Amino acid sequence: MKSKRTKKEETKHSSLIVRWVSIVSLTITVSFLIFSIVIYSTVSQQAIHQQEEVSNKVVATLDNSLNVIRGELQISNVVPNLSPSTRRVLEDEPNISRSQAKNTFNDDLISSISNPDINVAVYNLHGEIVFSNGDKIPPYHKFSGNTNWNKINIVPHDTSLLVSHRIKSIRTGKTIGYVIVSNKMTNYNHLMKNLLHWMLLISIFAIILFTLISYIVVKDVVRPIKKMAKIAQKVDEDPNSAVRIENLHRKDELEDLAIAFNKMLDRMQGYIDQQKQFVSDVSHELRTPVAVIEGHLNMLSRWGKKDPEILDESITASVQEADRMKHLIQEMLDLTRAEQIDVQYPNEVTDVNAVLMRVANNMQMVHPDFNVQLDLDDLPQETEIQMYQGHFEQVLVILIDNGIKYSTDRKQINISAGVTQDTVQVVVQDFGEGISKENQKKIFNRFYRVDKARTREKGGNGLGLSIAQKLVTSYRGEISVDSVEGQGSQFKIAFPVLSKKKAAELKAKTRDNKPKGIL
Ligand code: ADP
Repeated sequence: MKSKRTKKEETKHSSLIVRWVSIVSLTITVSFLIFSIVIYSTVSQQAIHQQEEVSNKVVATLDNSLNVIRGELQISNVVPNLSPSTRRVLEDEPNISRSQAKNTFNDDLISSISNPDINVAVYNLHGEIVFSNGDKIPPYHKFSGNTNWNKINIVPHDTSLLVSHRIKSIRTGKTIGYVIVSNKMTNYNHLMKNLLHWMLLISIFAIILFTLISYIVVKDVVRPIKKMAKIAQKVDEDPNSAVRIENLHRKDELEDLAIAFNKMLDRMQGYIDQQKQFVSDVSHELRTPVAVIEGHLNMLSRWGKKDPEILDESITASVQEADRMKHLIQEMLDLTRAEQIDVQYPNEVTDVNAVLMRVANNMQMVHPDFNVQLDLDDLPQETEIQMYQGHFEQVLVILIDNGIKYSTDRKQINISAGVTQDTVQVVVQDFGEGISKENQKKIFNRFYRVDKARTREKGGNGLGLSIAQKLVTSYRGEISVDSVEGQGSQFKIAFPVLSKKKAAELKAKTRDNKPKGIL
């Protein structure tokens, strides 16, 4: 099952590379194809245009030489017109001297018909050849209407051009014959062959090069993703696994992703550890009262039923333990709820003065043997904080109650409050046993008690300060302790002060959206 899944995931990754590389090569191939077609057709058009000009020039030269003839073209009038020297011989005139020849021969005509690519044929009106310049005589083509025509015969590597022209006598205006010029276009064919060859070579080279580059780039991108998937898979198989993605040394988004991924795993691990610890702590804490109750019940079943003294003692002890258990369960519930404050009470506002006075009064009433002093001199009237009133009271009760629980001879609790800059500070001071530096770091941990046995006697479960800390930090406040062993402790809590405007806004919101229940 496991190997199947690994294989499947690997296929997925490789298919990502294949997909990416195929897209890149396809895009490059199509781009090169379009580019090549554009280049090829532009060059071809330009070169054909040039060849047409050459052919048309030959036609025009022949036309110029022949259109002076009055009657139908025949060998007897065509040849002398194309070659003045022949005409002189025919007309019995002295031959032209070498020096005259240069001017008398039609230079254009000679250069045109001596071009090995150009084959010229002059036909009379009956389609009979009257002049040609080579072995390959362009075939006669029957003319329809009055038009001349050009025909490009496209054959790969053997494209040719045929131009047909009707010769009209400038004297009579009548058609006297036809000129047909064929052009083998050797240069054109050669150029196009070379162009195709190079374009093909360059395209193949570019496609291979870009495909290779894209493969390297994609592989480089996919590698860390594969690593992350592997790690995720390992953590999925074993949630306690400490494997993490090692430093990718990339300085890019993938490294950010890897860091975020590791952080997420750490956090997840933290939650799992916390949960485990909580379950183990709870079961450990509940084991003692359950064991005590069980012990007493056993004792009762053996001897106690008839002995009123044992009966009384066991029942009292069991009720006490049950009570402690009830208290412990309530505290655990409080702790769990304290973690969800944001959702339940986002907009609550509390008047610090009023709550402090009420709690101090209540504590004084419950513990008349103690002197609970309240000093509010530095606290302006109507100082408000963004906190649910019940939670503020709960924190104060936990701190004052601890001060009373861990007191020694001096039975006094000082509560003072003040505002510094934008924070409200409340200090609960006692003059009891104090806490060592070492223990000050641990007392906010769940179920931590400095002296387990003694604390248990006083009804402590080691959850009070954890609840207080959760509540305070949930409302963006801070809690700290300052203590000297044997002299007493000072617990300080601080919250951001609410501006009047913000307080009014929050109160309006709370009115619209009253919480359904309180802790
Ligand atoms: P408990 O319910 O046991 O009091 P807390 O979380 O409130 O749990 O306190 C944790 C431990 O810190 C206590 O067991 C006690 O040892 C110590 N402690 C708390 N407050 C005081 C204090 N004011 N003076 C001395 N020790 C204290």
